[in-house]
Amino acid sequence: MELLDGKKTSDDIKFEISKKVEELKAQGKKTPHLAAVIVGNDGASRTYVNSKVKSCEKVGFRSTLIELPDTISEADLLAKVNELNNDDDVDGFIVQLPLPKHIDEHKVTLAVKPSKDVDGFHPENLGRMMLGLPCFLPATPAGIVELLDRYNIETSGKDCVVIGRSHIVGSPMSVLMARNAKVGNCTVTLTHSRTKNLAEVTKRADILIVAIGKPEFVTADMVKEGAVVVDVGIHRIDDPSRQSGFRLLGDVKYEEVAAKASFISPVPGGVGPMTIASLMLNTLKAIDMK
Ligand code: NAP
Repeated sequence: MELLDGKKTSDDIKFEISKKVEELKAQGKKTPHLAAVIVGNDGASRTYVNSKVKSCEKVGFRSTLIELPDTISEADLLAKVNELNNDDDVDGFIVQLPLPKHIDEHKVTLAVKPSKDVDGFHPENLGRMMLGLPCFLPATPAGIVELLDRYNIETSGKDCVVIGRSHIVGSPMSVLMARNAKVGNCTVTLTHSRTKNLAEVTKRADILIVAIGKPEFVTADMVKEGAVVVDVGIHRIDDPSRQSGFRLLGDVKYEEVAAKASFISPVPGGVGPMTIASLMLNTLKAIDMK
């Protein structure tokens, strides 16, 4: 088994981006600037946003963290989004999800200007992705494509099964794996909670991408010998024996599935860092999209 090491790969990408930022600066061009909006105090969301901001610093981007209380009204949040849309100094921005229940996430996603939508969640970007036009690809699926590419995983003609059909991970992932591209040309099966005999379907997968949001759901008996397994899930499990008070698990029962897989992405250190790397790549692209 070989590790799909997202941490190392994202470090390589960040190094490459930092070189490009140096070039931009040497040419007297603008330093890329990413803004991140976080609403409320959810611990996991804060950790994700903080690592995004820290990564910006690492590659030489400018970053702005906008912290808003969970009591903010939908109208005030939309006004903040509009402000960022119109701020020429900000090249791209994200609004960290999930949002408090009284705010309609779709409204917020739709309000983000597509040319600054570095998370790739706006329908205009998703539609352009479907048509193969220039766009921001959704950060997590794009990070997985990049990871498979950098490990030279052969995808053409392979059976790919995706578990989960969310708008931010599973659905766009299935589109990317089926498109006519270097990482693509798979025969894709997109599964969800109504899929019958899931294990029978997953056992046919040469490439299994798991975004179900249930800790250690995928077990060895669901995986074909030699499969490539990508684990998108992240779960904080209470663990008083650790200083942090928790440990991270994925959607895949790692040890037993790793014993059968040819390649597997770990949690942590797999898809998470690749999502951040994608966000950085999208921010760099935002300069050209302007
Ligand atoms: P989500 O919106 O909760 O979607 C989960 C999907 O799994 C749904 O499509 C659901 O089907 C399907 N599902 C639930 N139970 C199932 C079952 N028994 N059999 C088959 N399918 C089932 O989750 P998400 O936002 O895609 O996230 C998935 C996981 O990835 C979470 O752990 C999340 O924290 C993690 N994540 C990680 C990153 C990263 O950067 N590493 C980024 C995003 C998300 P239905 O549609 O039928 O309900």
